[in-house]
Amino acid sequence: MLIAGPCGLQSRESALQIAKFVKEQGATHFRGGVYKGQNRPIVNGKPEYKGLGDEGISILQEIQSKFNLPCVCDVQSERQAELVYGLNIANMMVGARNMDNLELLRNIRAMYDLDLNFDKIILKRGPSATVNEWLGAAEHLGGARRVILCERGTVHFDRHDYTRFRLDMLGVAEVKHYHPGYQVIVDISHGSGDRNLALLLAKMSLSIADGIMVEVHPNPDTSPTDAPQIVDYETFGKIATLYKEHKDARNNHGN
Ligand code: PEP
Ligand code: MN
Repeated sequence: MLIAGPCGLQSRESALQIAKFVKEQGATHFRGGVYKGQNRPIVNGKPEYKGLGDEGISILQEIQSKFNLPCVCDVQSERQAELVYGLNIANMMVGARNMDNLELLRNIRAMYDLDLNFDKIILKRGPSATVNEWLGAAEHLGGARRVILCERGTVHFDRHDYTRFRLDMLGVAEVKHYHPGYQVIVDISHGSGDRNLALLLAKMSLSIADGIMVEVHPNPDTSPTDAPQIVDYETFGKIATLYKEHKDARNNHGN
C-alpha cells in the first residue's frame, strides 16, 4: 500500500488536485483527515484547525469514484464511524490517540460483525503504547483478518528540533516475525515529524513493512496542521518511485 494525501482536507478543489497527483504517481490509497484537532485548542493565538467535518466525507466519496482511488478516513467517534461506513469510504482509520478508546473499538467491531465485506480498519499505534497494547487493541477490533496495523512513531527521550516522534522499526519487525498474520504499514510522516527524513524512512520501511503512509501537499508550509512533516510533490515523486521499484522487485521474486 502507498497511502498518500494531505494531513487534513482544506477544500474540495485542493483535495481533488492532490488526489489526482498522488494517483498519477502510483498511490494505492488517498488519505485526508476530515475531523482534525490540534494538541491545544488555541495555537499561536488562533483557534485550532478542526477540519472540514462531515462535508469532507463527501469529498472523499467523490475522490473514490472520480479517480478510482480508495480513501482512508480517521474516525474518533461512533457517529463518525457510521458516517464513513454509510458513505462507503474504503478504510476507516483509528488514530493514535484513540487506540485505547475501547468504547470506539467495540462499536466499530460491532459494525464489522454485521458486514463482513468491510475493508480492513487501519489501527495506529498510540505514541506511548507497547506493541502488546497495540495488539490488544487490534484484537478488540477483531484481529488480523480485520485490522492493518500502522506504526506512527512513539514518544522518546531524544526529542529535539528534528524529530517529534521516533519510528519504532523494532516494533514493526516484532509484529512481522511473531504475528505474521497481520499486515503492518508505517506512517513515515508522523513517524518523525520531519519531512527531510521521509525518503530515508520510506526506504527503511519498505524493506519490511507492507506499505507506507505519507502526508503530501503542493505547498506544505501552508498546511494548517503538521506542516514540518508534510512532503512536497517533488519528494513524493521520489517516494512513489521507491515504492514502485520495491513492488516490482517483490513481484519478480514471486511474493
Ligand atoms: C493522521 O494520520 O491523520 C493522524 C492524526 O495521525 P496520528 O493519529 O498518528 O497522530
Ligand atoms: Mn497529520
